[in-house]
Amino acid sequence: MSAALERDKQLTAQEAMFQIILNFWMSRAVYIIAKLGIPDLLKDGPKTTNELAAATTTHAPSLYRVLRALASVGVLKTKDEGKFEVTPMSELLVTNAPGSLRWFMISELGQEHFPAWGNLMHSVKTGEIAFDNFFNMNIWEYFAKNPQDGALFNDSMSGLTAATNDAITSVYDFSGFGKVVDVGGGHGGLVTGILKKNPNLKAVVFDAPEVISGTQEKIAAAGLSDRCETLSGDFFQSVPSGGDAYLLKWIIHDWDDEKSIRILKNCRQHMSADSRLIVVDTVVPETDEPHFSKFFDLNMLVMTGGKERTETEFRQLFQSAGFKLLRVIPTDLPTSIVEAQPM
Ligand code: SAH
Repeated sequence: MSAALERDKQLTAQEAMFQIILNFWMSRAVYIIAKLGIPDLLKDGPKTTNELAAATTTHAPSLYRVLRALASVGVLKTKDEGKFEVTPMSELLVTNAPGSLRWFMISELGQEHFPAWGNLMHSVKTGEIAFDNFFNMNIWEYFAKNPQDGALFNDSMSGLTAATNDAITSVYDFSGFGKVVDVGGGHGGLVTGILKKNPNLKAVVFDAPEVISGTQEKIAAAGLSDRCETLSGDFFQSVPSGGDAYLLKWIIHDWDDEKSIRILKNCRQHMSADSRLIVVDTVVPETDEPHFSKFFDLNMLVMTGGKERTETEFRQLFQSAGFKLLRVIPTDLPTSIVEAQPM
């Protein structure tokens, strides 16, 4: 290899390393504008730093430095007269924009996730959950004790679910089922999408009591109360009966194998041979290819003690709970549908 090529390769590695460090700074800076609601303030037109600082009660010169940095990476754009405007990226941080990532950004980069990531080393050294070690409770207890953060997390899940609804319903046909039970269905975002697309289908959303009151309101607001029941409980104890499809979206990845098997067996108990288990989770590729799931997996390591799984791991997990994996259906997003049937 020529010296020049050698040097280019060196530079590329160095740039790549700098980029990794930068990514951390960048994501925290984006968190700041999401939390302050800056994209909301800009959605109807550009504004100056002083206007933004006044509206968010922040220190204008420091806020300016954050905005300038973000305008250098496409999150914002500068306009004439020292104004800033939104770009397609920051439009995704506008509250209630289609597929808004505002609450996900705030939840992932602030309050509970950020300290847990700061404690990643604890998980790596001990195998324990970094979050639990830092906060002396698990994430679900934390949300129950801090309802505002819990509400924000539910909004973040609903926002993401809105973004993934189409990806899921366009590759999976729910029309053959009579009733789907969404286990850990949060505020019912997925069920709402499915019911709207399948007018004859009925559904149950099942989640923890502190979550389900919010679910009831959202289902009613969507005009679906006649076709969708909301029930609360603990999925480690039991899940509602009567479904011919059991949906588990972003549930199994929260738990280790033993706990996942408990949830799956509770579903299995109510299922007949021709009913279906529909798990929606990321599936980790078994090669070195870059994939969202591999870092999402670290998020599970620090937050919940769960994990993202490979197809082989899903197959084994399902087998232990009395299911046979039928197929893995990819979607346009880095999340897949893993379909199984009782054995
Ligand atoms: N399926 C939803 C929410 C995923 S987040 C979505 O994709 O948007 C995980 C959900 O599991 C949360 O709503 C949480 O309240 C619920 N959950 C956690 N522990 C639970 C338990 N023991 N019983 C029932 N639900 C539980």
